[in-house]
Amino acid sequence: MTKLKRIAALFLGLSLMTGIMTGCGEKKGASEKGNLELSVHMHFYGYCVFDDEWPVFKKAAELTGVTLRGTAVETVSDSGQAFSTMLADKTLPDIIHYDGTSLKKIGIQGALIPLDDLIEKHAPNIKKYFEECPDARIAATASDGHIYYIPGTLADIDQKSLPSQGFFIRQDWLDKLGLSTPKTVDEYYNVLKAFKEKDPNGNGKNDEVPYFKRTGSIADLYQLFGAHEGYYINENGEYTDGKTEPELKTAVENLARWYKEGLIDKEFYTRGEQAREQLLSSDLGGSTHDWFSSTASYNSKYTGFGLNFVPMAPPADINGVVKEDFGRSILHGLGWGISKDNKHPEETIKYFDFWLSEEGTKLASVGVEGVHYNMKDGQIQFTDEVLNGDGGVPSYLRNQGALIEIGSIHTIDAELAGMNETARSGFNEYKDNGWVSPSVPPLSFTESEQEVIDANETNITTFYNEQIQKWILGAEDVNATWDSYLETLKSLGNDELTRVNKESYKRSISE
Ligand code: CA
Repeated sequence: MTKLKRIAALFLGLSLMTGIMTGCGEKKGASEKGNLELSVHMHFYGYCVFDDEWPVFKKAAELTGVTLRGTAVETVSDSGQAFSTMLADKTLPDIIHYDGTSLKKIGIQGALIPLDDLIEKHAPNIKKYFEECPDARIAATASDGHIYYIPGTLADIDQKSLPSQGFFIRQDWLDKLGLSTPKTVDEYYNVLKAFKEKDPNGNGKNDEVPYFKRTGSIADLYQLFGAHEGYYINENGEYTDGKTEPELKTAVENLARWYKEGLIDKEFYTRGEQAREQLLSSDLGGSTHDWFSSTASYNSKYTGFGLNFVPMAPPADINGVVKEDFGRSILHGLGWGISKDNKHPEETIKYFDFWLSEEGTKLASVGVEGVHYNMKDGQIQFTDEVLNGDGGVPSYLRNQGALIEIGSIHTIDAELAGMNETARSGFNEYKDNGWVSPSVPPLSFTESEQEVIDANETNITTFYNEQIQKWILGAEDVNATWDSYLETLKSLGNDELTRVNKESYKRSISE
């Protein structure tokens, strides 16, 4: 925990205590005009917790007269648990932030109020947002037809198929071994093999980790075999289940071999978020597939041994196709709603509306003018502190409260402005070549469809993840168990699940 956050936690503790000691029912500052204080539950991704000290939200308070106070504590590391615990409280926080699926569920159950009328009467920016970005409206609409939360975006709403991640490789290692950039999946395999066997870090040991990931999954590599991890839109525009396609079997068969041969990090399942720091700082990591901006920031950080980690085009897959399946969906999947115990729904929806105004969009995307950036000739110029921040510009800004996954639009220009030359060239190469496949759009379900999802989805996901792990780590052979895998999926209701997804998708494209 950073010092700033510790102080914030202490502060929160004190203000709660003051409340108890004075025994006041109404929160301080809950007067009619301005200065309204609202409580917010925000705890997601297992580590992102609302921080009362975030300068971006303090600026928003200045502009709106609404100050948010976080109720979640960082001592709980499981966001799902924090969410359940919060729901069990007698009085709910004024604002509840979390993933859209959960918010719609608790909305229908009565923990959140429907926002339809409030938006209609008090939120012109939200109305405009829903008109210009139908994906957001569809995602926000629950199976009972009501809107319970405001979702946010990862990019400008007119941008479809923007890159998010790409392949990165050690140019300094390629140079040292006299290899050129791999252009096909076979060449990529050969390069990873050379990284493993030819000691590019020059310490006389076979300690290189040719391919590594920080997410605990190597699903990024399935695309090299024409396979897909879950549902995707195929080349005929059809909603398709990648889990049951023979291409997945081919991918897993090959990747299990790569893993066995030491080409994939032996610890990729458990290494976690710090994988890049660990393996790049120690001159051990060779290649990954990750976000451009943050991944390109390590060259200037670990300079002692000539680290040159650069983006490269996706290697052509086994069918000769060059493409990138991991694009940026318009929505990030999270957002916020108004709880049944909120005494100020009108002020709250106006506060939500602020975040979708032009001013709110800028604040959410690039932070506070004069603090995080200055305008020069109509361009955003980040301050040196932001540009040199740990983990790249977006990470730094997140610690300031910008780019947090609330119901706001995050412009891509901001991310581009914060990219170093290496990141920008990779991002533009992926964008300009049109390599990025369209993402699966958000879907809305009827009540009966939602029942099918609730009954089956979790079991199917759990089974699928466990099975993939057994195959990749070599505990089971994919050729021997593929048929029984398909049977189990069927018995868990996968056909039903696919059917309701397909039907909802058909409706959404005919709307
Ligand atoms: Ca070595």
